[in-house]
Amino acid sequence: MRKTPERSAVVVGGGIGGLATGLALRRAGWDVHVRERTADGAAAAGAGLVLWPNAVHCLQVLGVAEAVRERASVLHRSTLRRPSGRSLSRVDAHELARRCGQPLLGIARADLSEVLTRALGRDALHLGHEVTDPASVEADLVVGADGIGSLVRRSLWPDGARPVHRGYTAWRALVPGADRLRGTGAEDGASETWGRGERFGTVPVGGAGTYVYATANAPRGARAGDELAELRRRFGRWHEPVPALLAAIEPGTVLRHDVHDLPPGATALHRGRTALVGDAGHAMEPNLGQGACLALEDAVVLAHALEAEGSVPSALSRYDRERARRVAALARRSRHLGHLARGAHPALTSARDAAVLVTPARLALRAAGRAADWRPPTSPPAHVRQESR
Ligand SMILES: Cc1cc2nc3c(=O)[nH]c(=O)nc-3n(C[C@H](O)[C@H](O)[C@H](O)COP(=O)(O)OP(=O)(O)OC[C@H]3O[C@@H](n4cnc5c(N)ncnc54)[C@H](O)[C@@H]3O)c2cc1C
Repeated sequence: MRKTPERSAVVVGGGIGGLATGLALRRAGWDVHVRERTADGAAAAGAGLVLWPNAVHCLQVLGVAEAVRERASVLHRSTLRRPSGRSLSRVDAHELARRCGQPLLGIARADLSEVLTRALGRDALHLGHEVTDPASVEADLVVGADGIGSLVRRSLWPDGARPVHRGYTAWRALVPGADRLRGTGAEDGASETWGRGERFGTVPVGGAGTYVYATANAPRGARAGDELAELRRRFGRWHEPVPALLAAIEPGTVLRHDVHDLPPGATALHRGRTALVGDAGHAMEPNLGQGACLALEDAVVLAHALEAEGSVPSALSRYDRERARRVAALARRSRHLGHLARGAHPALTSARDAAVLVTPARLALRAAGRAADWRPPTSPPAHVRQESR
């Protein structure tokens, strides 16, 4: 294993992107410090995630795929429905896994964070450490993994692109307890239901229970006061298991965030000795379920570029070149899908649903594969050992 202990890196932010980048760099022999401003870590900040095959490949490279799989649910299908429960389309996740070489997983964010933190080492994660002046950070490499509001990005480009509100809001929650989905047809896959300007999704996430999310068109900053009551008001009459899950959510545990993205391609992913990963560099609407997956990709591509190139600046140029086109393309697609899914006009939503209904399953599979069928750099450096499968 080639070690480069003289190289030091500070990663600003300990979300999925920061933890994965810290781990990738540490495995590459860097002296890494991940600084996370919250006291309890990013694990507290989320509910669940879908990990597409591209992300599972990255977890394999990072040596944590088995630990993640132990905590996750393998998803057998991804289904789109109407509020009545009628299925509009279905993607066979086994076929997707066959094509892409890895399964589709559902996992609680806290579980993914914990697996990454353990592999990184608690000594490298500094909780309660907010970075207030990125320019003063002393390290050979600084990585901005500080999310959509990134201070690192704003300090590099004070007049750069700003997050744009996309006209809707998102709720997320974890419903604890096993078997909540049993007998509903949603027990072994991801399910999303499209209404008029509203969506509701369910994902089994291993022993942690069921991850639920919802979106609705809403002005920025609108809040209901009691968000659980608001979810029950909006979605309580949709098909089962939606009402049963809403009944089982513990009060006070619903997260609500307005959805923003960065204009696709508007932000470079590096400058000098600083790189941006995850939402800091390319926050996108959540419609493809790929934001955290792309942060994992960033982590392995960045570590690979640093190993392959002779200097930090040339490695970061390479990282930017290898990432820019893909992340911008997916951000555009996610915007497009959001536009479609947010439709609220009755005639338009009927036409939309009819079009989805007649789309052949193989086309739906191909569309899912376009984002998910990605592999890490083909010649991993010697030290980035692939986990034995
Ligand atoms: C409703 C919804 C559903 C989604 N579903 C999926 C999905 O199924 N699959 C998927 O892949 N993605 C999904 N995403 C996207 C995913 O949540 C994000 O892309 C991902 O969390 C980005 O990770 P990150 O580490 O880049 O940023 P973040 O998760 O935002 O982490 C940034 C971290 O930096 C810390 N920080 C910020 N500023 C500082 C500072 N100055 N100093 C120190 N620390 C700082 C923050 O506290 C935070 O912990 C979804 C998003 C939404 C809104």
